[in-house]
Amino acid sequence: MITLKSSREIDIMARAGRIVAETLALVRSLTKPGVSTEDLDAAAEEFIRSHAGARPSFKGLYGFPKTLCTSINEEIVHGIPSPRRVLREGSVVSVDVGVECDGLHADSATTIPVGEINPAARSLLETTEAALHAGIAAATLGNHVGDIGHAVQQVAEAEGFGVVRELVGHGIGSRFHEEPQVPNYGAPKRGPRLLEGMTIAIEPMITAGAFTTRTLGDRWTVVTTDGSLAAHFEHTVAILAEGPRILTTV
Ligand code: MG
Ligand code: MG
Repeated sequence: MITLKSSREIDIMARAGRIVAETLALVRSLTKPGVSTEDLDAAAEEFIRSHAGARPSFKGLYGFPKTLCTSINEEIVHGIPSPRRVLREGSVVSVDVGVECDGLHADSATTIPVGEINPAARSLLETTEAALHAGIAAATLGNHVGDIGHAVQQVAEAEGFGVVRELVGHGIGSRFHEEPQVPNYGAPKRGPRLLEGMTIAIEPMITAGAFTTRTLGDRWTVVTTDGSLAAHFEHTVAILAEGPRILTTV
């Protein structure tokens, strides 16, 4: 069932979303060669919990042990922070975080360069972020979920990149994952119609090679099957009469 949120609920989600955005900015400022993903996770958890009534959404969600998902290079999503995962110059790390405030969630992700990265990697990051914003621009009243996926797919495939099929965006609200599913591919005017008060996480996961995935033996980390680089950008967005409102921003 798709739930529509009141303006009061959307404002609470925007409060959670602001903490999410500030957390990602903090993590970006800390990301450099020699830092472990555990270091990033500890700083993020402390920052989130310093806000009254806020808690990390991911910790305990389906049994996930940490505040952040930190996915390095060919890892697409759901990498588990660890003191043994130390960032190296030229890598990229996808950082995904959710925050719950007053029973409502917000969810955002970004892929961060570690030091200097090569032009191909930079192009993947820029294209994935552009694909996210194309998807958000298509999240207007009267459009359908398929219009969002179509917009994302057009931008990514125009650059020759792969669009991950096996993982998708989602509705979000009092539960972290709600209906509808929001694929990063599709056809215009297909799928559920976008209604005022819907809140969705739009999250392109784009690869430099094949779009097929597999899950590592830790049963969390999802990687590209061909070892190609992956990027992940995400915002939580409210569908409003005046247009899409990004909730995970400062
Ligand atoms: Mg996320
Ligand atoms: Mg999400």
